[in-house]
Amino acid sequence: MKYVSTRGTAPVLTFGEAMMTGLARDGGLYVPQTVPQMTHADIAALAGLSYEDIAFRVMYPFLGDTFAEDEFRGLIAAAYEPFGHAARAPLVQLGPNHFLLELFHGPTLAFKDFAMQLIGHMMQAALAKTGARITIVGATSGDTGSAAMEAFRGLSNVDLFILYPHGRVSEVQRRQMTTPVEANVHALAMDGDFDDCQARVKDMFNDFAFRDGVRLAGVNSINWARVLAQVVYYFSSAVSLGAPHRAVSFTVPTGNFGDIFAGYIARQMGLPIERLVIATNQNDILHRALTSGDYKTHGVKPSISPSMDIQVSSNFERALFYAYDRDGAAVTQLMDEMKAGGFHISQGALQALRATFASGRCSEAETTATIIREYGRTGEILCPHSAVGVKVAGDHLGAVPMITLATAHPAKFPDAVRDAIGLHPELPPRMADLYDRSERLTRVPNDLAQLQSLIRERIAQ
Ligand SMILES: *Cc1c(COP(=O)(O)O)cnc(C)c1O
Repeated sequence: MKYVSTRGTAPVLTFGEAMMTGLARDGGLYVPQTVPQMTHADIAALAGLSYEDIAFRVMYPFLGDTFAEDEFRGLIAAAYEPFGHAARAPLVQLGPNHFLLELFHGPTLAFKDFAMQLIGHMMQAALAKTGARITIVGATSGDTGSAAMEAFRGLSNVDLFILYPHGRVSEVQRRQMTTPVEANVHALAMDGDFDDCQARVKDMFNDFAFRDGVRLAGVNSINWARVLAQVVYYFSSAVSLGAPHRAVSFTVPTGNFGDIFAGYIARQMGLPIERLVIATNQNDILHRALTSGDYKTHGVKPSISPSMDIQVSSNFERALFYAYDRDGAAVTQLMDEMKAGGFHISQGALQALRATFASGRCSEAETTATIIREYGRTGEILCPHSAVGVKVAGDHLGAVPMITLATAHPAKFPDAVRDAIGLHPELPPRMADLYDRSERLTRVPNDLAQLQSLIRERIAQ
């Protein structure tokens, strides 16, 4: 099993190499050369298995010889053991043919834990074999950073630096990043928005002297291993609603397109998914792109669902790669145009995208109204991101069951919830002291050279 870059010119890598590399050296993202297939019988055989067993069967064919079978089973078990729910990703019903997939029972209360916990254990296992040390730099709109801190704190072969937009993450998100006491993890509050943070991380990867000098690795959803870990819950939830004997659709609150792209891979593998619905907040570039064919950035407007306040949606490049029939040169051309503000998707590629994806947008007022309505109808308290998904899903309900991904726990965004229903959602008891712990962070400017020298100094210590 080999991995190729969406831009077509970077070296072809193994799974283990792609995991340690993050961004490809041609600026592209790694994707599998061929997508392993699961037959009707393979999928039917998943019924009734534990989340961990489904995870093994879905992911192992992508791994080549990076980990032996038993070793990989052990890594999966360790990754999901800290979750606060035995089902890992339980489904609840919201109404006729509409289900909510709760992805917020991990240690930092957002779906990012599914991938980050596993990648933490996989990287540690791979580094232990060679004794190498790496520097991980990641950008976050809040949840990736907290999940990464939790997954990598205290690991002996890793230094982790997380760039987050100063003042634009929730207090719970910030505290989850700033309260770990381990010296190998560093929270950097940067001036700017998430797109600025993500751009500086990409600049570091494209500076090969720096990249090689600090042995840079990435854990943003540009990292293929993250996408892969997220494929699993599409299978586990679809099978519990009757797949492969009946199809399902999914609605996914979307920012960087990593989570929904995992659904695309599940569909490529053979899972009967009728539609993947992209749900955006007022930062609706993906909805506009799918509607008009124009991918044009308008600048980020901060919203009450901040983990989706993104205009430059990295993983959309992976979807474009397939929509353009795996033409790396065409993708390179689009991404060059992107630097000048946007691009137009060709008619053929747009048709290919629309064959799988639908889309919808949810305004701020609709987000709040959805939290109020669902609390009244079902007693379920939605986080604002999940509410964006539930609103958009409501416009796409049909004959097949709809599964909306609940991407975070409401207690991670208590202000938006309190403004809607007047209740303060409580943190689970295992993290109830979060507000009492002391914080440690460094304010940094949006400046590549200064960031690089700070990272070099810290890892030399
Ligand atoms: C990261 C995140 C999203 C967006 O997921 P992408 O993979 O970036 O599209 C949505 N909701 C929450 C709570 C998140 O943390």
